[in-house]
Amino acid sequence: MARGHVPERTCRGCGRKAPHFDLLRFVLVDGKLVEDQQGNTPGRGIYCCNQLTCRERLAKSKKIRKAD
Ligand SMILES: [Zn+2]
Repeated sequence: MARGHVPERTCRGCGRKAPHFDLLRFVLVDGKLVEDQQGNTPGRGIYCCNQLTCRERLAKSKKIRKAD
């Protein structure tokens, strides 16, 4: 793998920082959190570890729903 700067994203479930490719991207669509499987869904991206605990925390987070 090429060395260099890898953009990091923060998991909204646990707060861990990780390279963007290590996290799932979600986008708020009509107030609902939708997993962005193609990586090109327009909207504000929210990142989360690919772990059930983090995904559950994210889903329960009211802060995120209020954010937009
Ligand atoms: Zn996490």
